[in-house]
Amino acid sequence: MQHFRERAEALDAADPLAGFRARFAILNPDEVYLDGNSLGRAPHAGLERLESAARDAWAAGLVGSWKTGWYEAPLRVGDRLAPLVGAHAGEVAIADSTTVNLYKLAVAALRARPGRRRVVTDDLNFPSDLYALRSALDAAGGGELTVVPSQDGIHGSVEGLRAALGADTALLSLSHTAFKSGFVYPMDRLTAAAHAVGALTLWDLSHSVGALPVDLSGCGADLAVGCTYKYLNGGPGAPAFLFVRTDLQAQLENPIGGWFAQLEPFAFDLETKPTHDLRRFLVSTPPILSLSPIEAGIDLLLEAGMDRVRAKSVALTEFLIEMADAVLDPFGVIVASPRDPEQRGSHVSLRHPDAYAVCLALIEQESVVPDFRTPDNVRFGVTPLSTTFDELVRAVEGLARILEGETYHRGGRPSGVT
Ligand SMILES: *Cc1c(COP(=O)(O)O)cnc(C)c1O
Repeated sequence: MQHFRERAEALDAADPLAGFRARFAILNPDEVYLDGNSLGRAPHAGLERLESAARDAWAAGLVGSWKTGWYEAPLRVGDRLAPLVGAHAGEVAIADSTTVNLYKLAVAALRARPGRRRVVTDDLNFPSDLYALRSALDAAGGGELTVVPSQDGIHGSVEGLRAALGADTALLSLSHTAFKSGFVYPMDRLTAAAHAVGALTLWDLSHSVGALPVDLSGCGADLAVGCTYKYLNGGPGAPAFLFVRTDLQAQLENPIGGWFAQLEPFAFDLETKPTHDLRRFLVSTPPILSLSPIEAGIDLLLEAGMDRVRAKSVALTEFLIEMADAVLDPFGVIVASPRDPEQRGSHVSLRHPDAYAVCLALIEQESVVPDFRTPDNVRFGVTPLSTTFDELVRAVEGLARILEGETYHRGGRPSGVT
């Protein structure tokens, strides 16, 4: 490991983004945190915004704060986020949760394609997305969800998806970056394939936004949703975002009516008159406190620049995979993420039969925080604004110690544990 340690030192010393680590509250510097793809660290500026939202806007401003920023917040923060996903102003809103937004947009897409009753997705997708897509089909009058199998549990099948698209397809909905393996789909090619059969596309960007550059406009994508508490560092339960391409906004209908979508919400009209723009995809009162830190995370990414973030992310995951091959392979650890960095997001899954026990041992014995993904994945997420090359060395060293000393408790995981 000595030469990896030396390389990590040199890489950290030359890292143009190294200064960003100090912008986060890191209360235990000895802990190696590799789960920022599940819950991102807290930026100092985010904590300040949260405190100010509570003290200045809520405690001091009370209801008057609706007139000094709260009402506009969902679209204002959406506009701020837009460049991270290649969207234009007026195409991104902060609202609800990822799953709820996915449901809203999937029903809207199905109703905009009457006569077409098929939604195409894949088995690498986040299960919640599949549940929501099935609910959307039910709400839109029934139909079929086609779940295209991946090639090998790691790489999605672009050809399989193409073959599944047809004249009866209303919607293609995929996670752009797969939550388990980290595989990244070619958004441009799949969007073109869906459009060629007259279907719409709905991308879940939860593991992409803030991790790699995304170009929704350049790809001609129709709809998208995503999380703000992962790579955007918005905090636990921070509301999600949704994207609707400008020319589709007036054509699609939000299946959940609510007063925040109305042209004149304060007219309290008993008839529904939604706006013709993005606002029509809002439902109700935004969760102002949980929305307030999101902008801080977005600003850090904009300041760093997504090209530099992506370059460091690739360097980190390449370094991690190289160490896994050299140091962990003898212990039966298998890299379960794409080896081609072009096809890989910002996390690496390592497969081991006792992955759950190994994850527990990593946390308890080595102060290394990965996450476990069933059935046998130890998932290491790298968040380029705060993750160092040194942390990856410490994670691999810790993992090697556990596997060599067999200091984990063999056997299955207790039921009900995530
Ligand atoms: C994290 C994640 C979600 C989370 O959904 P919630 O509605 O916020 O619970 C959804 N989709 C994907 C792909 C995710 O990675």
